[in-house]
Order: sequence, then structure tokens, then C-alpha cells
Amino acid sequence: MAAHETPPGVPPEPARTEPVSSDQQPPIPPLAGLDLEGLRDLLVGLGEPAYRAKQVFQVVQNHGVLDPHRMTALPIALRERLAAATSPALSPIEIQTSSDGTTKFLFALADGKRVETVLIPEGDRNTVCVSTQVGCPIRCVFCASGVEGLIRNLSTAEIAEQMLHVRAHLGERPTHIVAMGMGEPLLNLPALTGAIRLWVEHDGLGFSPRRITVSTAGTPSKVDQLIELQLGVNLAISLHAPNDETRARLVPGSPAGRTAGLIEAGARFARETGRDATVEYVLIAGENDHPEHAEDLARLVAGRHIHVNLIPLNPVSHQPELRAPSSLAAQGFARRLHERGATVTLRRQRGDDIAAACGQLALERSVGEA
Ligand code: SF4
Repeated sequence: MAAHETPPGVPPEPARTEPVSSDQQPPIPPLAGLDLEGLRDLLVGLGEPAYRAKQVFQVVQNHGVLDPHRMTALPIALRERLAAATSPALSPIEIQTSSDGTTKFLFALADGKRVETVLIPEGDRNTVCVSTQVGCPIRCVFCASGVEGLIRNLSTAEIAEQMLHVRAHLGERPTHIVAMGMGEPLLNLPALTGAIRLWVEHDGLGFSPRRITVSTAGTPSKVDQLIELQLGVNLAISLHAPNDETRARLVPGSPAGRTAGLIEAGARFARETGRDATVEYVLIAGENDHPEHAEDLARLVAGRHIHVNLIPLNPVSHQPELRAPSSLAAQGFARRLHERGATVTLRRQRGDDIAAACGQLALERSVGEA
């Protein structure tokens, strides 16, 4: 049974506007997006000694304390100055927890737009799945995030702060971060890179980049940009179809005719960075789960050291005819891949009682309030 928490006074989502660039920051900087240098500049500008920057950075990034009034290690006057000079990037407006522990957070942004973040507990792992855009230009047929296309990029602060809210909710640091929520991460790479640099900074959370995974459904050239940045993170290719024809149908916003090129880019990523590259493949009954799809997929990844994660579809309300294959059919697909030399994991559905499919909660709330 899902648990709902809806704080009072939540503003209605405003009417859809034209795309807004992520560099249109509000005049007061969000605290969660400031690196050490930015904090130093801010504090010195407020008449505070520069050494306070490291102290504030640790409290925000390592302990996830976002409200300056709650930074009890700081003098009261500094807390008040900091509160007046910075702003939150996100306001939590709803939290749903599934019977399997998966927890979905819905946040309102300063302009009233909404994004989701998901916490996925599994054994001793706590994985946070962050969003990088409002909406998504890739428009996968099974995904609620893509229904309205791209609305805007998130800023570094809006990406970084999602993780800090989840960290505060959890009461401890998560073990893994995946940029696999709403949006195509590699189309907002500068802002995402800023967030990753905040998470891995030793004076803050000191998160290992090896435990961060960036996903893409996009273009090989963007994967090459990620390689050049040398962030030390892993790559997940959201493939969902093993050939151009099926991919054009299921992932219509991805560049046409580039399925094999994307896999080649993934192999290049693994070779040149030494980090993992995986293929994510959402299994949809009758759409991409035929034996010939398994054959095509096995050929694509053959000899490339790319692990395949099969994920049975989470139901989405805007496409009720799409459904996951039976568990027997999913196991048969995985077995066929395995027999052809691929390394495969068949994942289980998570949080299907809390609208856990990507973008589902934001879409339902947006439609409900329209
Ligand atoms: S699954 Fe990912 S890439 Fe596809 S529409 Fe949803 S958010 Fe975009």
C-alpha cells in the first residue's frame, strides 16, 4: 500500500511555457548548487571569513542540511545572513513509499515545474535515481516523462539538491546515484557535470564516481563528450530495442539509424575510461521481446563487454495497452541472450504500486491539477 504525504499550501502547477534555458538562475543562488569557490565568494561578500566556506559546504553537501537556520554549528548571525542570501532549489511536495521500499519524491521547482526522484533500496544498496530535465525530448512510448516533450533543462543546483533531500530522508548517505530519472542526461551534460563534481568533492560528500551511473538514450557524439570529461562514472545505454526499425517506434526521439553506433560508443566508453557500460532494455510484451529481438541484441553486444539489464515494463496510465511479458517469457528472453554469449541480469519490477514508472507521478499530478 502506498503511503502519501502532501504538505499543505502546495501551489498549483502553472500553465506550460516555452523551454527555458538552465542558465536563467533565480537572483538568489540556491545553496545546494554552490561549490567551495562559489560559497567563499558569497560569504566573503557577506563580510564573513573565507574559512567558513568549507564549514558550510560540509554541512550542506555531506550532511544534507539545506536550511541555514538548522546549521547549529554556525553562529546565529551567519545562519540568518546565509538564509537571506540563498534559496532552496526544490520544495518537496509529495513522497510515496511502495510496499517493496521504493520511495518516490515529487519536487516543485522555483518556477512551479515538477520533477521526480526515486530511492531504490535493495539489500545493502540504496540507489538514488535523479532527474536531469523537466520532461524529455526522447519520448519513449512507455515513459510518462516524455509525454509533453522537453520543457527545460535542470540547473546544477536542481540536480544536486534532489540527492541531498533523499539523503536527509534516508538519514544516511546513499550508496549509489544514477542519472536515470526524467530527461536525457547527456543533453544537459554541463549542469549534470556540475552536480557530479559537487557529489564527489572530498570536502563535501566525497561520493565515489564509481558508484555514479549516467544513462543515455541519445547520440554517440555525446558519449564521446562524456569520455573526454573523465569523470570516472559508469554509463548506461537506454537501448530498449535491438535494431533501428524497432527503436524508431519505441524510442522515437532518439537519432534515427544509430542503434549500432550507440553500442559502439558504449564499447568505446568502457575501453577508454575503464568504467562499466551497460545496456538497459525495458521488456514490452509483443513489442521488443520476440526471439529475433533477443538474437539481434545478442549480436549487438557480442564481444563488447557490455552487460545487459532486462527490466520488465512498469505499467503507465497513458499507454494502458503496453504491458510486461509474463515472467516465463522474460526468463526465456534472458536465457536466449545468455546462450548467445551475452551477460544478462533480469531485474524485477519495482514500486509498481506507487506509479514508479519514470515520470508517472509528475504526469498524474499534473493531469490531476489541470
Ligand atoms: S525513458 Fe528516459 S529517455 Fe525515455 S522518455 Fe523517459 S526519461 Fe526520456
